[in-house]
Amino acid sequence: MKVIHVSAECYPAAKVGGLADVVGALPKYQTNLGYEAAVVMPYYDNKQSKSTKYTVDYTGSVTLADQAYQVQVLKVTDSLKTLGYFLYQVKIEHLLDRENVYGYDDDTERFIAFQKVVLDWMLQFKSTPNIIHCHDHHTGLIPFMLTQAVKYQSMRGVPTVFTIHNAQYQGEFSFEKLSYLPEYNLEQSGILEWDYAVNPMAAAIKACWKYTTVSPNYMNELPHASTGLDWLFDTEREKSVGILNGIDADVWNPSTDKMIAKNYNVRTVEAGKKANKAALCEKFNLDPNKPLVAFIGRLVYQKGADIMAGIFDRALDANDVNGLVLGSGDPHAEYLLNELKNKYPGRYNTFIGYDEELSHLIYSGADFLIMPSRFEPCGLNQLYALRYGTIPVVRTTGGLKDTVKDIGEKGGFGIRHEHVSVDDVALAITRANKLYNDTTEFKRIRKEIMKIDNSWENSASEYIDLYNLIAK
Ligand code: ADP
Repeated sequence: MKVIHVSAECYPAAKVGGLADVVGALPKYQTNLGYEAAVVMPYYDNKQSKSTKYTVDYTGSVTLADQAYQVQVLKVTDSLKTLGYFLYQVKIEHLLDRENVYGYDDDTERFIAFQKVVLDWMLQFKSTPNIIHCHDHHTGLIPFMLTQAVKYQSMRGVPTVFTIHNAQYQGEFSFEKLSYLPEYNLEQSGILEWDYAVNPMAAAIKACWKYTTVSPNYMNELPHASTGLDWLFDTEREKSVGILNGIDADVWNPSTDKMIAKNYNVRTVEAGKKANKAALCEKFNLDPNKPLVAFIGRLVYQKGADIMAGIFDRALDANDVNGLVLGSGDPHAEYLLNELKNKYPGRYNTFIGYDEELSHLIYSGADFLIMPSRFEPCGLNQLYALRYGTIPVVRTTGGLKDTVKDIGEKGGFGIRHEHVSVDDVALAITRANKLYNDTTEFKRIRKEIMKIDNSWENSASEYIDLYNLIAK
């Protein structure tokens, strides 16, 4: 079986968040299961692409209204060997090939053009793929174009799977831009529409063969998650499956990770974490003898960024713990987190920015990782934390609920709280501090969590089972 994943992000070629981690790992595990997996994503003008070798797989052009762009689909040399799957990148000069993945005024145009080129490229395949697996709204028009566009009629029977990594971002745009789409029967425009706009996420849900969410609990939450699509999720529920994300156990492996100060495994976790914590604390002027509570992530409302500074302020005031935040996003949240450094010198620090290497050092060197998310489709940070022996402190929501069990329950290994409030999270950190001071129990849990297998091994085959239900 041949499956092609279509995505805006894929680690290591380009990463903004968890989407990249998933699309960078799932195909590798599918290849290991004996399937032919490929990823097609945009070519960005970033550091990674500058150091990658390519061959040209396709050349052509794409038109948006009256504007024509030259395009190439580039094949990454040796990607099957180095990444474990075939990787292709769509280069559209002056439109898609910019430094960042998102954040431009013409993102709508960029991703419509990307999706059209992906299908144009597939049109010249000798045999069509068995499955086209689209990820998030940037690829959400593909199931529609495949079923409705005149140009792609020959591929109409190719089954599509659409995975929702985050239903809050839907990619809506106005009807004026409908002319960018290839010709289709205008009577079918209703498939594209939601709430007086073109909504690629809604269109994907309506037009795809099956859709999935990245955790079972998020699937249950969606019909009442206030995304604006609640009713649609409710009515299309029969098409849906919740499949829990896994982690790439090769990339995220404390015994081989080259980005941390000292490698360790379950047997050597005490010495290993101690060395990484020492390196981390030295870097950020923190006391390695105090419990270290960290946060890593996008500083957005979803992640509780608006109360992050308040959480650390309250928690550090009430407990003898230290804090560290790695993230970027909302400028006001960044400002408050930077200010907090002055209030707690030697006890709290902030790193504003995106730093893959530092994130690995934090997963390995921190004692606790907080995730006070308002919603969390799956969440990967808690899974990385577990693998690195760092105890997750999470809100009971989405995938966090599926993957973290509170220490108050039988077999529990993490700390959960119900609300996204300074009080609730600070209280959870107080519980974390208590656990830290119960040294025997703390060390036992640390070892236990490192043994939990959250790798893609299990979930990758769930996707294959789903493909088998619909593949031709
Ligand atoms: P989301 O996709 O909503 O941002 P996930 O938990 O699914 O959240 O995935 C987040 C991924 O991005 C993880 O790999 C995390 O380590 C990484 N990450 C987030 N912010 C940063 C940052 N500032 N620096 C480095 N890595 C980050």
